[in-house]
Amino acid sequence: MVEQSGDVICHVLDGLFTYVSPSAREIFGWEPAAMIGTDGLSLVYEPDLPILQDVLARTSAGELGLIRHQVRVICGDGSLKWAETSAHSEHGETGETHTILVIRDISDRKCVEEELEELARKDGLTGLANRRSFDEMLERTWRQTLRQGGQMALLLLDIDHFKQFNDAYGHQGGDDCLRTVAVCVGKFARRPTDLACRYGGEEFAVILGEVGPNAAVEVAEEIRAAVAGLGIPQETSSNGYLTVSIGVATAVARVGGSIRMPESLLQAADHALYRAKVGGRNRVERTVLIAPTEQS
Ligand code: GH3
Ligand code: MG
Ligand code: MG
Repeated sequence: MVEQSGDVICHVLDGLFTYVSPSAREIFGWEPAAMIGTDGLSLVYEPDLPILQDVLARTSAGELGLIRHQVRVICGDGSLKWAETSAHSEHGETGETHTILVIRDISDRKCVEEELEELARKDGLTGLANRRSFDEMLERTWRQTLRQGGQMALLLLDIDHFKQFNDAYGHQGGDDCLRTVAVCVGKFARRPTDLACRYGGEEFAVILGEVGPNAAVEVAEEIRAAVAGLGIPQETSSNGYLTVSIGVATAVARVGGSIRMPESLLQAADHALYRAKVGGRNRVERTVLIAPTEQS
């Protein structure tokens, strides 16, 4: 049974392999004979070693029974595969530890999980990051800004008179327009610290990490001009083409600031967006907030 198993089955005595089933060769490209007498740690992808070391520490501290975990392993050809290892340990008569280790190839399952995870972060209509990704990134960028005593910006964009656009060109036309605007806006998230997302309906948000008030307004102006430059016809608007209004809020982390973040940043960007709408649309308005640093 052991020899025929689709998993790799091993016997480990006091942390060293004493038996490895032949499937190791077929599944992971490992030579069973070469593994005998080793602890197998060199087969684990380095960033995942702490996971395994934790299990080994628990076993050597006397924890028995089944311990299961997932790590990436290095195959014989150097490629990486996700593996789930189930280790069941027992003490022998002279106090030695016997472990039955079952190693399963879960690459396919992981692949599906990762695809699902990726999908869960994207907006279905436009393919931009969705609200969930936005919330996570805003929190993360804000924490980073605090740590560095730096600055960051949030841009909230809202398409002008989009209800009229839908009324004139139909919901399908509206959806196509949202996709086109999304591609345009997405291009302005240029750095790893930036994120463009669909915030909801006809609203988009751009998080800019490590950016001050003037640079943030410059990016917002570029986006506003780029959307107008798409020349998407909108007969009901006074310009004749589709436009966006943008509210920019920049948070500067400084000793003595008192605002609550990142909620205040969202609120401030929303207020600035409101001013842009009231001020005539197709424009950018800004607010600068002084936020407390971690040291204050
Ligand atoms: P304003 O300039 O004040 O922003 O006017 P507006 O018409 O854009 O604002 P309002 O909030 O009144 O209307 C937003 C419209 O966006 C109404 C809604 O039907 C449309 N909308 C929201 N989500 C979608 C979507 O996924 N697809 C389409 N086609 N339309 C959408
Ligand atoms: Mg809106
Ligand atoms: Mg709108």
